[in-house]
Amino acid sequence: MSHVFPRHTKALPPMAVGGEGCYLIDASGKRYFDGSGGAAVSCLGHGDPEIIAAIQEQVGKLAFAHTGFFTSEPAEGLADMLAANAPGDLDRVYLVSGGSEATEAAIKLARQYHVERGEPQRRHIIARKQSYHGNTLGALAAGGNEWRREQFAPLLVNFSHISACYEYVLRRADESAFEYGQRAAQELEDEILRLGEDSVIAFMAEPVVGATAGAVPAVEGYLKRIREICDTYGVLLILDEVMCGMGRTGYLFACDYDDVVPDILCIAKGLGAGYQPIGAMLCTKEIYETIENGSGFFQHGHTYIGHPVAAAAGRAVLTAILERGLPERVRVMGEKLDAALREEFGQHPNIGDIRGRGFFRGLELVADRETKEVLDPSLRTAARIKKAAFEAGLICYPMSGTRDGRNGDHVLLAPPFITTEAQIGEIVEKLSSAIGSVL
Ligand code: PLP
Repeated sequence: MSHVFPRHTKALPPMAVGGEGCYLIDASGKRYFDGSGGAAVSCLGHGDPEIIAAIQEQVGKLAFAHTGFFTSEPAEGLADMLAANAPGDLDRVYLVSGGSEATEAAIKLARQYHVERGEPQRRHIIARKQSYHGNTLGALAAGGNEWRREQFAPLLVNFSHISACYEYVLRRADESAFEYGQRAAQELEDEILRLGEDSVIAFMAEPVVGATAGAVPAVEGYLKRIREICDTYGVLLILDEVMCGMGRTGYLFACDYDDVVPDILCIAKGLGAGYQPIGAMLCTKEIYETIENGSGFFQHGHTYIGHPVAAAAGRAVLTAILERGLPERVRVMGEKLDAALREEFGQHPNIGDIRGRGFFRGLELVADRETKEVLDPSLRTAARIKKAAFEAGLICYPMSGTRDGRNGDHVLLAPPFITTEAQIGEIVEKLSSAIGSVL
């Protein structure tokens, strides 16, 4: 009997015993292609010798020094690298242990910033319906996924939720993608005015929506308009790139593609690439200096912030991403993955949309391509595809999403950046057999 409290108590997983490149291996010797990097985590694949060496070296030198007393060389080095490569003047880096910690810290920093600059009346955060920002209570309140929120609703702060930029579902036939994006962004201004124009702390969004909707990028012009609206009302823009950052979309940061600089940027998953649990919140010089020149203390903090071994892993991963030219590789190979998916599934009666950027791709499953009607949620189509793919030796990330309250199923792919053309073929072949066995 296991004493581990698993995610799913009614479906116990096999035991993973090894990882080699793009594959995970279980105790029976079965190999699985890691087509979603777990949940967009394992961007370098498994067993990368350079990352392992960096971790081993650091743990032998200094495993832990509490940030209440010390800084450390790997934390300084990683922060320098992130600040040097981040867009705009995102200049200060707060190192945490994962995605929820990064978004939670962002929410609190945004509020403290306004309090310290003399605007304590700002009390609202606006986020989007199709979003996931983490599972701690603040991050969960920000996210829009009803299924995750439902039973905890009495404990959640009342955040506002506008629609995400979700072209496939929400664009009207009579408008261009650009016009739709401007209309979608207008929801933010309307909501700010409804709440009171000097009462909003921040707007939080994923530049490419991950788990909740399946790799949905914003249309051209949307994020730029969002940036303008935030600037007009003194609202901070928090971009959550926990899933889509660190080269996943073919750009080191997803917002580089849109040429938009947030005030606070959250990253995690790909930063540690699975070798260590690490995330980061980057903020502008102005936000940092407001705290520095004010109370001098960010009223937050966990024991493991700035962990030296995690930071050493993050620095080695970022070095590998940059020195190996992985964002550029992901851009090129992502197009090949997209083309292969379109060839295989472009005419499939139950696949309504194929989308994404780089190695962050989604398939939206529908009952009817013409009407875009969702599949009956009780069929649990996405979950059944996940199971069938796993049996076939492919790890992918299917989920039931939310479409303004309606359920919608999708499959998310986020393979390691080292995935070859032949392996793209393997992903598509195994996914096709899994989808074929269910639909
Ligand atoms: N934000 C986004 C966009 C995510 O996709 C996730 C996790 O899937 C999180 C935050 C939470 O990250 P973690 O699970 O590391 O706490």
